[in-house]
Amino acid sequence: MPRVLTKKECSVVESLKEAGILINMESPEAKEVFGRPEEVQGFFCSDRHADTIAHLRKVLGCNVLHPVDFYGGPLIFAKNYREHRTSDMDFVYGNIVDGMELKKLQHLYVGFHAPCGKADKYGHSIIDVVSWIPEVMSHFIEGDFFKNKEVGCIFQFQKEGKEDSRRQKSYLLDVQILTTFIEKGGLKKTEY
Ligand SMILES: [Zn+2]
Repeated sequence: MPRVLTKKECSVVESLKEAGILINMESPEAKEVFGRPEEVQGFFCSDRHADTIAHLRKVLGCNVLHPVDFYGGPLIFAKNYREHRTSDMDFVYGNIVDGMELKKLQHLYVGFHAPCGKADKYGHSIIDVVSWIPEVMSHFIEGDFFKNKEVGCIFQFQKEGKEDSRRQKSYLLDVQILTTFIEKGGLKKTEY
């Protein structure tokens, strides 16, 4: 069984929500961000919750979600992640681009999650992971291939919330608001 978020990690999630960085994907606001595309490309860490794909298909309202999926997932794009290797990064980036061309997809969702077994294995905290998101996402948002595509960032939490109502929750993460939040020292001030 994967572990659940600690109280401290839950307080980090609350700070991100309060700062407007995380938008609940089940809210009407989130549904307006990308509309309801028929087919989308996803990029995830494999030790995510087993029903992530079904859950995302439901909240995104799409019929098909094509995942690129391996342990660590988007974290390999972060320079400070223990298994960061540019050769792997180039391969994965190329694979995502190939897949989207083959399937004629216009939407990419890059999914982070917590707790993440691979982050835990190397002693990377939830704060580390969150602080790497702008760097990871810049590869996709600024990539030539993605100029005319929709790129979304998702953060999923294993059983986030109050003890009695804990369940998997998915949020759209606003990378721009997070970047400003980090620049202003918001993450350093976040109680952890
Ligand atoms: Zn993971």
